[in-house]
Amino acid sequence: MNKQEISIFWFRRDLRLEDNVGLFFALESNWPVVPLFIFDEAILDSLPKNDPRVGFIHESLSKINQQLADIGSSILIKKGKTLEVWQKLIEEFDIKEVFFNKDYEPYAIKRDLAICEVLKSNKISYCSYKDQVIFEEKEITKSDGLPYTVYTPYKNKWLEKYNAIAPVVEYDTKDRFSHFHKGEFLFPTLEAIGFEESSIKVMPHNLKHVGNYHETRDFPALDSTSHLSPHLRFGTVSIRKLVNWAVRKNEVFLSELIWREFFMQIMFSFPKVVSNNFKSAYDGIQWRNDEADFRRWCSGTTGYPMVDAGMRELNATGYMHNRVRMVVASFLCKHLLINWQWGEAYFAEKLLDFELSANVGNWQWAAGTGCDAAPYFRVFNPEIQQKKFDEKGIYIRKWIPEFDLGYGEPMVEHAFARDRAISTYKAGILK
Ligand code: FAD
Repeated sequence: MNKQEISIFWFRRDLRLEDNVGLFFALESNWPVVPLFIFDEAILDSLPKNDPRVGFIHESLSKINQQLADIGSSILIKKGKTLEVWQKLIEEFDIKEVFFNKDYEPYAIKRDLAICEVLKSNKISYCSYKDQVIFEEKEITKSDGLPYTVYTPYKNKWLEKYNAIAPVVEYDTKDRFSHFHKGEFLFPTLEAIGFEESSIKVMPHNLKHVGNYHETRDFPALDSTSHLSPHLRFGTVSIRKLVNWAVRKNEVFLSELIWREFFMQIMFSFPKVVSNNFKSAYDGIQWRNDEADFRRWCSGTTGYPMVDAGMRELNATGYMHNRVRMVVASFLCKHLLINWQWGEAYFAEKLLDFELSANVGNWQWAAGTGCDAAPYFRVFNPEIQQKKFDEKGIYIRKWIPEFDLGYGEPMVEHAFARDRAISTYKAGILK
């Protein structure tokens, strides 16, 4: 039997049909385009069966599938080891071209190289595109071509470059929808993929307060930030549309989107940051790494209300406000002297918006081991943070209902922990 001639667009972290660069070019292809998503066992096997992120991916794919159904098309969903899935697809179809958007995480880079090798050896052409960022890889560098390791000059260069091309081109795919293949692939249930619904859900994003972002963003009780992070992580929102809009709306908000790209380019240029200190001089710090202390931090029972409220918010919702993330991260590394990697791993497990580059970058920032990090002798005082950013205790009471019944003693006294952190760091920093 003759195999069907097709092109494939491979969805990964770009789960939308609108303004999707790789998809836009795929739909220019001479063959009907089959949209594909692979549930990658290499990633899924380590996740709990009710991981809410898998549920969100499934839900986003289902929305895409409904949009495709309106034009008589559908998405092809596979589950397995990516390389094996591709080998089977090559047997099943006569694949002419493959299109996908780039992913800059070390695992993804390695995976994509392996897939491209297989495509090449089967004489299938492929093309990858920049989609999840405004500027990628080596587009923003110092004048000597080296990567920036300090945020402010990176941001200035980023803005200069953006302003020169603003607004960035958006890719309207609608006119090309007739190039999708026709036919219905079976859309699997979450259970068929081996997962189940979680009670934790990704919230819709909320851009209502962005105009006042600079005034309200630091107060967790207001919950006024955008909640865009999981949407940017999985690509249910286009960064180009967002930035073209944000640039006219709020400068501070835009600068947060630039932090996102800053950490992505750090991970791309210095992949070692994923599992090592950016500053190797900090490799000599003698972390206490006390497991019982770590468990108290994880469960939100440290006796510091701001820390505990944050951890309980994370455990209950898969989200934590940024100000509180900074407080809990600093507390773990400085007050408890636990290696930032433990905290990073816990966040990676729990956060709906877990993004390797931002998580590692921010954790290393808090620990003082990263690029452009807070100096190690700056130790957040969780009580002062609470007074400044949750003066009336609204956020704290939301997550610690027993707060007014007399809250327990802090597990470690602040002044003692601060001195211990500073002397341990000082002794550990390699000359
Ligand atoms: P908003 O304040 O509305 O910001 C808009 C967008 O800007 C965010 O969605 C995000 O994409 C980006 N952004 C904002 N702050 C940062 C930042 N500091 N670094 C990088 N990008 C930023 N963010 C993640 O997306 N994934 C993570 O895994 C992650 N881990 C973190 C770990 C620690 C210890 C800390 C201190 C911060 C971490 N952040 C992470 C950054 C930040 O806390 C979240 O992006 C933000 O709280 C998400 O809420 P929002 O979408 O309402 O943000």
